Amino acid sequence: MNNWVRKDLKYIWHPYTQAKDLKKAPPVLIERAKGIKLYDEKGNYYYDTISSWWCNIFGHNHSKIVKAIISQAQKLDHVLFAGFTHKPAVNLAQKLIEISPSNLRRVFFSDDGSTAVEAALKMSLQYWQNIGKKGKSRFVCLDRAYHGDTCGAMSVAGSGPFNQKFKALMVNSFKVPSPYCYRCKFGKNPRSCRLECIKPLEELLAKKHGIISGLIIEPLILGAGGMVIYPPAYLKKAFHLAKKYNVHFIADEIAVGFGRTGKMFASEYAKIKPDFMCLSKGVTSGTLPLAATLTTEKIYSSFYADYKEGKTFYHGHTYTANPIACAAAVATLNLFKEKNVLKKSKSTITFFHKQLESFYEFDFVGDVRYLGFVGALELVKDKKTKTPFPAQERIGYRIYQQGLAQHLLLRPLGDVIYFYLPLVVTKREINIILGRARKVLANFFSHYRG
Ligand code: PMP
Repeated sequence: MNNWVRKDLKYIWHPYTQAKDLKKAPPVLIERAKGIKLYDEKGNYYYDTISSWWCNIFGHNHSKIVKAIISQAQKLDHVLFAGFTHKPAVNLAQKLIEISPSNLRRVFFSDDGSTAVEAALKMSLQYWQNIGKKGKSRFVCLDRAYHGDTCGAMSVAGSGPFNQKFKALMVNSFKVPSPYCYRCKFGKNPRSCRLECIKPLEELLAKKHGIISGLIIEPLILGAGGMVIYPPAYLKKAFHLAKKYNVHFIADEIAVGFGRTGKMFASEYAKIKPDFMCLSKGVTSGTLPLAATLTTEKIYSSFYADYKEGKTFYHGHTYTANPIACAAAVATLNLFKEKNVLKKSKSTITFFHKQLESFYEFDFVGDVRYLGFVGALELVKDKKTKTPFPAQERIGYRIYQQGLAQHLLLRPLGDVIYFYLPLVVTKREINIILGRARKVLANFFSHYRG
């Protein structure tokens, strides 16, 4: 075993990882990265098919982003963000406002997706107190939602391995059924669907809106909940219901923002104007941690008062608006304009979707779903009955291990194998990645069934 890996196993505690598994399958030591590939110290490569946790947008180590980081690091590394400001933050805030839904006028910076969500929840909660509506203190989320691992974010998520053990730290939220089309609880298909699954949300809001602060949703893709992709009509209706019942609409665009779905923000598909939009991951194209919570002037101005009125927003993080991270984000947003990526990527996206469709021929692939640069295969034991594999068989995990041997990073979500490609992926790369993924899957199941 490599000496560095040995030391890793001695000193480090990895996230979402059973350390005992690492004895058999030690972590891969990555030395450098370029474009869509990660390299170990011997020069072996791995296709980063999930953009290193859904962050990378323009390929690893993009020269313009690297240059911006170096140049900013030489000028100003960090400065506290209370009572001080700096050009990269101002620049970035203006750019974010320019590309977001037109009602969003204020930017609150933080460090990662979870903190962007915490800030939105707390702003929403305090807003109602600021305007004298004290009873509005609960949140609504989908039952397969994921919004982060901090306490507030865990509380507005479906129940599962990410939060089950931490219930003592969580607050109660209302959970409504997710629009999970493949496993529609109403027995509908895309043609017969009349958005029956939104009824529970409608009924809940009608009954309880007096005590509800906000509704939080991942627009169009429930990421960690299994890459569940749902129609814009659901998002639109959920938004209008929130408006009808005077409940804040919080769009968590952390995973789907910055072009991943083919539009700058997934919310654009439904033409909605959320009260809050949470951003992170792709904002720096996966180079440095940074997040932002965007909101309206109406909400912002409810906090604007004489100090003694007690309306200050008492929330912040040490590395808020770190100048180097902001500079990386500005460079990332400049690349969108320079490269006209969103327009140019249309044919690549169509090509990707067509290739994905071909996986449906496998009897172990129950569902093939896709949107933009995201594609997912839900593996099932029985295609007719949609019966999943027993969880203890760890099918997804075993496929991940076999993917590594084929130079593919196929990190699964349970038994959902997915691709979360950077916007600069080429058709040739898609061919290679999906071709190898086919081989890995076919080979795995021929032994499994064999
Ligand atoms: N919201 C969504 C939709 C996410 O996918 C994630 C992370 N996967 C988060 C929030 C939390 O982000 P972070 O891990 O940066 O805290």
